[in-house]
Amino acid sequence: MKFFARTGLIGLSIVLTLVCSTAAMAADWVNVVSSKTGYELIKKSGSGSEKYAQFGEVMIILAGTALNDEIIKGDPLTSLPLRPGETLYLVTTKDPAVFNMTFPGTRTVYREMGFIVLIAGETAGMNLLSKQSDFTKVELLPANKVILTAPVSTGSTRIKTEDATARFIELLDMKAFLQDLTDLVNFKTRYSYVAPAQKSIEHCEKIFADMGYTTRLQPFKIGSTETHNVIAEIKGTDEKKFGQVLVVGHLDSTSQSPRNDAPGADDNGSGSAGVIALARLLKESGLKPAATVKFVLFMGEEQGLYGSKAYVKELSAEERPTIKAVLNLDMIAFDAVAPLSVMIETSAFNRPMVERMQKLALNYADFTIQTSFNAWGSDHAPFLQQKIPAVLTIESEFATNPHYHKTTDLVENTNQDLCLQILRLNAATLYDFAINPENSN
Ligand SMILES: [Zn+2]
Repeated sequence: MKFFARTGLIGLSIVLTLVCSTAAMAADWVNVVSSKTGYELIKKSGSGSEKYAQFGEVMIILAGTALNDEIIKGDPLTSLPLRPGETLYLVTTKDPAVFNMTFPGTRTVYREMGFIVLIAGETAGMNLLSKQSDFTKVELLPANKVILTAPVSTGSTRIKTEDATARFIELLDMKAFLQDLTDLVNFKTRYSYVAPAQKSIEHCEKIFADMGYTTRLQPFKIGSTETHNVIAEIKGTDEKKFGQVLVVGHLDSTSQSPRNDAPGADDNGSGSAGVIALARLLKESGLKPAATVKFVLFMGEEQGLYGSKAYVKELSAEERPTIKAVLNLDMIAFDAVAPLSVMIETSAFNRPMVERMQKLALNYADFTIQTSFNAWGSDHAPFLQQKIPAVLTIESEFATNPHYHKTTDLVENTNQDLCLQILRLNAATLYDFAINPENSN
C-alpha cells in the first residue's frame, strides 16, 4: 500500500474536507516528530487518516489540517508543506556516496543511517527513481510502517555467561580474527578483476580446508571475468529436520584505485574474517551441528552482488526451502561515535528470525541495536528476494565512514570491540539455528 501516492492524497483531502468542514482547507503537511509523540498524536486523533513511517526515534507523519494544528503546537522537528503534485520518496542506500548526495528539485525531510526521505515533484521524482541500483532502492514512502525500529541498548540487560550458548561464544578467538583480517588486507587489493583477489580466494579456501571443512570454489562470471565464491561445508547430524544454515560475507573490495590498492578492512575484510572466525569457533567447540552449516565468501559484490546472485541462482527449487537462516556479515568494524551500535536488516516476512536475533542480542551482546525491515544493497538481498530467511548485520554508522571504498580502509581504522560484539550476536544465532535448534523457541 502506497498511501503517499498522489491518488491517495486526493482521497485523503476529500475525507478531511468532509470531516473538518468548518476548518479552513489547507495543504497536507509533512512533519517529523519523536516516535513517542507521533504514536500518541495518532491515537488521540483517532481519525485513522494520517499516514506515518517510523525511523528509529523519529516518525514522519503526513497530516491534514486538524491533526497538523496539534503537531505544530507540539513543535515538530521539521514541518514542510506538501504542495500539489509532490510526493514523498524513500531512498534506502548502502552507498555513502548516494547517502550524501544532494538531489536537485527535492526537499529533504529526513536523512539518517542510509535512509533518506525526500519531497519531490514529478520530474525530480523521475530523476530519483533513476538512481536505483543494487545498492540503492528508491520507492514511494511506504505508509504506516516501521522502517527502522527504535534503538535498544542491550548493555542495560545482564549478559548471560553461564549457559551453553554463552560457553560456545566465549570460544571466539579474536586474536585469530585480527590476524585473518590483517592477512586479507595484506593482499593489497581483492578487487574482483585482479590477480591478488584470486590469491585471496585460494587463501581463504585453504583456511577452511585446514580446519577440516569440505570446500569448493563456485565459478561464475562478472562480464567476461571468471571468478569464484568460496564455499566450506559441514554436514548436519539431522539435515533432513533442521536444514541448512549459511554464514556469508563478501570477500571482494574496492577503492578509488581498486586494481592495486583496495585494502577493504571494514568493507568487507571484517565480515570475511568474521565468517572465518565463526567457522573456526564451530570447529574449536567440537560440537556437531544438527543443521548443515555452510560458510560462504562471495566475490563480485561491489560490481552488483554477482557472487550471491550466482549462489542463489544455482540453488534448486528443492534446496531453497531447506535454508533456515542466512547470516550476512558486511561492514562490522566501524564505530566512531559511542556507544557501539549495530543495525540488523531483513524483510517483513522474516520477522520470526529477526525476533530470535533481537532476543539473542539482549542476552549475549553489548551494543545499541536497531532493526530495519527495508532490506537492500548487500548479499542478503538475493536470498530475501527468493523468500529465503536472511539477516544482515552491519555497523550503524556505515553511511558516515570516511574510509568507505578508500585506500584508507585499513585495519588501524577498524573498531575491534564492535567486531567482537557483532560476532557474539552471530555466534549465538549460529548456535541457536544450527547446533541447538531443537530447544529454540
Ligand atoms: Zn560491502
